[in-house]
Amino acid sequence: MIIHNARFYINDSFASDIKAIEVDSGRIIRLLDSIPEVLPPGSIDLGGHYAYPGFIDTHTHSISGGIYRGGIDLQNCPDLTTLADMIRDAAVHRDKGSLLFAWNLDETALEGGTFPSQQLLDSLAPDHLLLLRRIDGHSCMASTNARKLIPGIQSPEEVLKGTDNDLVANWFHNSLDEAAIMHAYHNAAQTAMEGGFCTVHTMIGDAEESIDHYRFFCQNKHSLPIEYIPYPQSFSIKAALEAGATRIGGCILADGSIGSHSAALSANYADAPTRGKLYRTNEFWSHFISTAHRHGMQVAVHCIGDAAIRQINDIYLQLNQSAPADLRHQLIHCELTPDDLVQEIQASGAAAVMQPAFDLYWGGETGFYSQRLGASRTRIMNRFASLMKAGVCVTGSSDWYVTPMNIAMSIHALINHHNPEERLSPQDAIRIYTQNAAWLSHDEARLGKIETGLQADFSVLDTDLTAPFEHGKAQVKYIIKKGKQVNVNTSHSS
Ligand SMILES: [Zn+2]
Ligand SMILES: [Zn+2]
Repeated sequence: MIIHNARFYINDSFASDIKAIEVDSGRIIRLLDSIPEVLPPGSIDLGGHYAYPGFIDTHTHSISGGIYRGGIDLQNCPDLTTLADMIRDAAVHRDKGSLLFAWNLDETALEGGTFPSQQLLDSLAPDHLLLLRRIDGHSCMASTNARKLIPGIQSPEEVLKGTDNDLVANWFHNSLDEAAIMHAYHNAAQTAMEGGFCTVHTMIGDAEESIDHYRFFCQNKHSLPIEYIPYPQSFSIKAALEAGATRIGGCILADGSIGSHSAALSANYADAPTRGKLYRTNEFWSHFISTAHRHGMQVAVHCIGDAAIRQINDIYLQLNQSAPADLRHQLIHCELTPDDLVQEIQASGAAAVMQPAFDLYWGGETGFYSQRLGASRTRIMNRFASLMKAGVCVTGSSDWYVTPMNIAMSIHALINHHNPEERLSPQDAIRIYTQNAAWLSHDEARLGKIETGLQADFSVLDTDLTAPFEHGKAQVKYIIKKGKQVNVNTSHSS
């Protein structure tokens, strides 16, 4: 079949004279400089739009995002009356006895400034189990009938926090049956395609739990329209190996977050007398990472503050010197990196798996990072350009559900970084979501470019991301996976 009538992004530009691409069995077999007069059946007309290599998001928590997408989103909910209406409306469409999940509640933004009372909550969907989660995920409420099913809740309070909040979250995840899990992944795939992605890395499981969910996902991921690269988010190397995994980790935590003053810094926060903390010892990480390394596994660890990044990178560096292997270990987030640390990351050979939207949301002189860290440290946050210049493989990701999967917004964030020194060219911005991302999963011979022999994956937008553009207006037109259109396209032109 032939894919045609598009501008194809080849060798970092739309300037080539390639007019059509011949595809066989999901692979690109020829780049053509004219459109054949007779088009074989199954050929796809891309409506004159801009065809990029299939974009890859290299770090998401797709199960959570997929569940939330299927839930009741209370973002921008103005008052308790609206909240009540939204939950009652949703209950009408769900089977009696099923679980209703409402999330993104910011009670401080409600008129009145409080959570609903337990009594109100219980009255909204008495035939359902109702969970109400705060926007930051650190507190929640459960309807009385749901609370009775969750063992171990200690607090008599209506709003649950701390370990009680964790109990509710774990109960909720464990109560999903297989159909609900796959439904959540289909929601996630839909969101990925709407955001322009063909391939998504996803973290599965909670570090301390079993990896059954990972196994289940690996057996079923082929029914999803896009490709998933799964990570068992686990400390059990044995279990991961038994499940056939070639990589391990994800947001397994070397430290916390800037927002909660728990990211581990080498000097105190600007607005609190603490420098955060390393969650685990050097010995713990050294043992975990070198054991995985010895078994030929790629390792990914969440590290945000410079002290945490250094802790993990030091181990990667030692291994790179004592037992070099092409495993492409990952520093997830990799946010605060002084110059010397940038050089050490280059030396360790680790990849930096970063989130452009973090700078977009929280960067800049007056932004949230600046309040927490002060202006000078904010300038060494999210150093896309410095890391790339030093020769580190940088990849782009959303950490979805934390920020949206949206390629145009991500490219916009990279080109317009708050710190001019860390801005990327549009070509480099595209590269971190294509070639670099393909390299991260050892898929550079299959993904990341429009080239003969590679998989026929294309993300097709109505927008040239290498020219000035408004990211809110850019639209995804087609997602082509292995030569087949997989997204639902309502604005067809052919
Ligand atoms: Zn994450
Ligand atoms: Zn993380």
